[in-house]
Amino acid sequence: MARQHVVAANWKMNKTLEEGLKLASEVINIAKAEVNNDAKIVLNVPFPYLTVVKSLIGDSNNVFLGAQNVSNKESGAYTGEVSAAMLASVGVQYVIIGHSERREYFAESAETLAEKVDLALKNNINPIFCIGETLKQREEGIHFDLVKQQLTDSLFHLAEPAFRKVVIAYEPIWAIGTGVTASTEQAQEIHEVIREHIASKYGKSVADDTTIQYGGSCKPSNAKELFASKDIDGGLIGGASLVARDFIDIVKAF
Ligand code: PEP
Repeated sequence: MARQHVVAANWKMNKTLEEGLKLASEVINIAKAEVNNDAKIVLNVPFPYLTVVKSLIGDSNNVFLGAQNVSNKESGAYTGEVSAAMLASVGVQYVIIGHSERREYFAESAETLAEKVDLALKNNINPIFCIGETLKQREEGIHFDLVKQQLTDSLFHLAEPAFRKVVIAYEPIWAIGTGVTASTEQAQEIHEVIREHIASKYGKSVADDTTIQYGGSCKPSNAKELFASKDIDGGLIGGASLVARDFIDIVKAF
């Protein structure tokens, strides 16, 4: 996959069915009327809404369906889990893997995340793989090494064609849901480090083709400046994706 602009909504555990359908319809309709740049829009909605949001998306050529999680098991006796094959069967094209909330609250390890990545790819679903440091880790000056390690541990076992299907989302944990955004300089600096690390493993051409999103209190007022940076190729948007107007204004920031 060549480098693309991808703006992904992460609704997290928000919205009832009725509210979610209203939001998805608004996003799809406003996108149709107003978005004329090359950005891909991904709606990562809660599991119960996937099929109905898929039907709202229809044959749109710039809005795609995403999930927020996937099991690290293929199938079988894993009560409550949702497999990559199930997601693929309802038309899911992207899945968020390694979000800091899942790493922290559900103790997802680097190995578990690698298993999820493998199963997503096996089922033709593009992982949106999240990496990022805590404030303490940044203050200790280990943020560059940490994000490199996160890439190495869960993605660098992939062969090049598989790696090319992964979207990376750099999300400083201290900026998620806090209203504090990384400065454009901080974001660009670490995105460049991420791209260089990818180049050290897969070569410059793969690194140049990799889509690296920024996530963490991204909003219409700061998206334009962030997206203008040479190594920032889009956003993973939490809070601002719950308001159609704000989300689309972020998409239009390219
Ligand atoms: C996220 O959780 O992926 C995120 C970026 O959240 P927010 O935009 O609310 O900071």
